[in-house]
Amino acid sequence: MTAITHHLSDALLDGYVTGCLAQPFAVVAAAHLSLCDACRARAETADMLGGAMLDRIAPADVSQGGRDRMMAALDLAPPPPQPIAASGIFPAPVMQALGGRPPKWRMLGGGIRQVILSADVDGSLRLLYIPPGRAVPEHSHGGLELTLVLQGSFADSEGRFGPGDLEIADDDVDHQPTAGVEGPCICLAATDAPLRFRAMIPRLLQPLFRI
Ligand SMILES: [Zn+2]
Repeated sequence: MTAITHHLSDALLDGYVTGCLAQPFAVVAAAHLSLCDACRARAETADMLGGAMLDRIAPADVSQGGRDRMMAALDLAPPPPQPIAASGIFPAPVMQALGGRPPKWRMLGGGIRQVILSADVDGSLRLLYIPPGRAVPEHSHGGLELTLVLQGSFADSEGRFGPGDLEIADDDVDHQPTAGVEGPCICLAATDAPLRFRAMIPRLLQPLFRI
């Protein structure tokens, strides 16, 4: 894998570490962190700072009886679910979102395929498959869109994004990502608002996209 050059912003990293990100963005952040040593180091530092602040808060006094009951309750608690491992190009957080199964691609036209992993009030999370050299319809954003490249590459007005790279696009970015010619581009994308497509045909397709 070539070096990752597009990373999580400080705001996204802080949001992730403190558990403040909406679920679709948290999954993209976790997937980037699983691929990026640099951001993982930053997250550990942020985590330590947060932990140091928590340490300054005096622990609640727990009586021995209370402690025994708590430990007994912990013994009774069901075991945590088995973590789902990374598979192929899909990092563990993506496999988790896929329920441990391979993606079931749906055709969107023009050879573009997608898998919707979640779509609700929190926003949407999906996998996109873009054939080599193909462009995704031009669109602007009502909110934030995070796109993490898992395979291949794409380029738009913001630059070139390869495996592990994360594009952070907000209201200001009007982009038309085009997949690199070296092979299909597969990426993980999260949005917190419906995308606004410019052309008529894609607008008609939007109910299909459900994004
Ligand atoms: Zn990074």
